[in-house]
Amino acid sequence: MVDVLTEAQRQLNMSRIRGRDTKPEMLIRRGLHARGFRYRLQDRSLPGRPDLVFPRYKTVILVHGCFWHGHDCPMFRLPATRSEFWAEKIVANQRRDTIAHEALLSLGWRVLTIWECCLRGKGRIPINKVLDICVNFLQEGETAKTLSGMR
Ligand SMILES: [Zn+2]
Repeated sequence: MVDVLTEAQRQLNMSRIRGRDTKPEMLIRRGLHARGFRYRLQDRSLPGRPDLVFPRYKTVILVHGCFWHGHDCPMFRLPATRSEFWAEKIVANQRRDTIAHEALLSLGWRVLTIWECCLRGKGRIPINKVLDICVNFLQEGETAKTLSGMR
């Protein structure tokens, strides 16, 4: 019985972590939509299938979960059970992220990476400020930028 519950809980946790409409991503999507920006979601034709694609600005925004993408931050903690399995999985994800990031840049796309910890948890940045940064990035023409939570 305990195992069943644990498994159910684990699946619930995973669905939260991996879900397409994860809350941090929805905050960005809703906020930018409200500010008049239109985007495509998870464009399969681009490396790494970026979360949000703004063709007019030749820009993508990636919203990375700190666990799943292995962020070096207080929100990342390797699970105590099957830690080797998770470590391998996350390292593979990081490798994939790096490759996709470089490929996007080499194709002339600009890339804004937003880590979950700047939207959730102790170090979060007010959402309006995060959205301002997104808008500035879209309009100002920097090549790449990463947004993390405050430490
Ligand atoms: Zn983080």
